[in-house]
Amino acid sequence: MAGQQTISYLTRRFREVGFEPVSRHGQNFLIDMNLQRLLVDAAQLDYDDVVLEVGTGTGALTALVAPQVAAVVTVEIDERLFQMASDELVDNANVTLLKFDVLKNKNHFDPRLMEVLGERLAAGSGRQLKLVANLPYSVATPIISNLLSSPHVPVMMVATVQKEMAERLIAQPGTKDYGALSIWIQSQCRVEIVRLMAPSVFWPRPKVESAIVRIDLEPERRSLVPDLEFFHSFVRGLFLHRRKLLRGVLHAGYKNQLTKPQIDNLIEKQGLQADARAEQLGIEAMLALCEAVRAEL
Ligand code: SAM
Repeated sequence: MAGQQTISYLTRRFREVGFEPVSRHGQNFLIDMNLQRLLVDAAQLDYDDVVLEVGTGTGALTALVAPQVAAVVTVEIDERLFQMASDELVDNANVTLLKFDVLKNKNHFDPRLMEVLGERLAAGSGRQLKLVANLPYSVATPIISNLLSSPHVPVMMVATVQKEMAERLIAQPGTKDYGALSIWIQSQCRVEIVRLMAPSVFWPRPKVESAIVRIDLEPERRSLVPDLEFFHSFVRGLFLHRRKLLRGVLHAGYKNQLTKPQIDNLIEKQGLQADARAEQLGIEAMLALCEAVRAEL
């Protein structure tokens, strides 16, 4: 079945097992096989790679990836899809299928996933992790964001996401899409939109447009962030109220640790105007401000 996920295949298979896709879990299956191959090609897979897939579905993408890599670890929340994929992938010895919600909560993965990834990565020298997935859209942001602060950080992530999210990933300062996600990802990675996709390439059709994105880890950029966890929550805090002035947000956020004059002074020292807003700051300026705050705490 590898690479042959057509509407007729899906409808027949789903009828056999009495399954109906639910939009709550983003069960929209990629039926354009050229795009499925484009997604895989963009990941430049290698026999040393360990691939994480979130959302196994029927296993079509998994089957395409498995012969090209050392191991695939794929997670599916839905019991019936897990069963269908297990049947399809029975001959793929390097595939590990897991059945649970990949997220324990918004900020953390299910620890069982990290354990399995750790084992697969340790099983050979030179192994590296890549995410290759048609992500369930409702959890795409936490999956991509959390991987950058997980024990196993991927060297590359290639995924289909909602177009709106792709635009936030590549957004530049001063634009409406620029926010905590743009800063968090771009502070450590290079991001590229590989292809925009119409709703018609999925079945059932989603209401929104999609995009294949490729996110490459840039270890040098990442090493410039001294405290990743602090930076992540700092940036998220600043964008909770994006219409407010930076000064006001910092006053409110650090009222128990820093006085108003301390914050005003800190903003001035960064060369920022008193009426600056978070959305105007590029990555470097944001990092410098974060470090200045961290040094005062
Ligand atoms: N990989 C398949 C493909 O390429 O067509 C299916 C992708 S479909 C867009 C997303 C899949 O993610 C669905 O099979 C859905 O059941 C699964 N899923 C949704 N939320 C999940 C979660 N929190 N953890 C694990 N799997 C999830």
